[in-house]
Amino acid sequence: MKYSDRILNTPSSFIRDILKVLDAPDIISFAGGLPNPVSFPIDALKNAIDEAIRKNGSKLFQYATTEGYLPLRELIAEKYRKKFGLDVKPEDILITNGSQQALELIGKVLLNKGDKVLMEEPGYLGAIQAFSLCEPDFLSVTLEEDGLSLEKLEEVLKNNPVKLIYTVPNFQNPTGLTYSMEKRKAIRELVSKYDIALIEDDPYGELRFRGESLPYIGAGYLENSILLGSFSKTVTPGMRLGFLITRNAQLMRYLVTAKQGSDLHTNIFTQYAIHEYLMSNPYEEHVRKIVELYRTQADSMLDAMNRYFPETVSYTRPEGGMFIWATLPEGQSALELFPKAMEQKVAFVPGDPFYVSKRNVNTLRLNYTNATPEIITEGIRRLGSIL
Ligand code: PMP
Repeated sequence: MKYSDRILNTPSSFIRDILKVLDAPDIISFAGGLPNPVSFPIDALKNAIDEAIRKNGSKLFQYATTEGYLPLRELIAEKYRKKFGLDVKPEDILITNGSQQALELIGKVLLNKGDKVLMEEPGYLGAIQAFSLCEPDFLSVTLEEDGLSLEKLEEVLKNNPVKLIYTVPNFQNPTGLTYSMEKRKAIRELVSKYDIALIEDDPYGELRFRGESLPYIGAGYLENSILLGSFSKTVTPGMRLGFLITRNAQLMRYLVTAKQGSDLHTNIFTQYAIHEYLMSNPYEEHVRKIVELYRTQADSMLDAMNRYFPETVSYTRPEGGMFIWATLPEGQSALELFPKAMEQKVAFVPGDPFYVSKRNVNTLRLNYTNATPEIITEGIRRLGSIL
């Protein structure tokens, strides 16, 4: 069989490959990126499904519109209006099969082979994969403690016809970092001078356990802003429900056409079920519980790192989300550390797959949402002993 250049040049998910070796029950894994299953409101979803079927019958089982179930889009629009003061209408929202599908659709609509896409370095692997299928030319700008490096961003934009910028402004995957207010404003101002689409991928925004929620960089300000949201981290990832918000009507029309070619529409059963769940349950209270859980887990990991890691290893202190990013001394390789950690039955994700051009890096990602504080402490103690 002869395969397309497109797929041959797309990295397979290193993380999913790693996860395969982690099936052994005695391994302490900080490698996954999974929400804690105790956060899934299973009983409430069960009731919502029954109720949605009772109220709507065959509509849950029929083909549906590409844009998505209107009452769900109305609910999402209202939330963004109330919470962020954004002027979002249902027609500005496209319901997608997870926010991951939004990335794929955006790539299909905007990117020709060789087009310049600007990524955070390090950046979200799933976005690298989704865009890779369009064979773009990736450029990257260092992600600093408070967001993209402004000097690097300015330089790259000045010297390259960048078409698309991809950011995760809150509790970024993989670093856990959050853009400061100043950086958000400065990036907004800079990007507004160019005809560039700005993606803000925000699946973790509601999972803030420290500090104050900040306005978006582009959403509500820039014409070519694309905001992505998801129910994966707050309700369930398995039902695959995400959404894209843009006020650019022409872009929305093209995205809808791309989605028709991709899957006709997002699973309508799921859309009715989640809508019913949101209408009949205290969602905010549910999210607060997840936030409390993740705060405890993050603090356990940070305390243990403080106690057991040598001073030469630095790490981020997330204000929310699911990840901590550690940096080993210059010249050390996280890939080489991985088998040593596995001997001690601890796993993490070496930083390599989060870079579009660097290899054998000295950084690694640690997930804290899937273990008890005791297990987190023990895992970090073992990692510390190797370091
Ligand atoms: N964007 C980012 C930054 C993510 O971390 C993830 C999930 N790992 C996704 C998108 C995909 O999420 P979804 O389940 O909504 O497709």
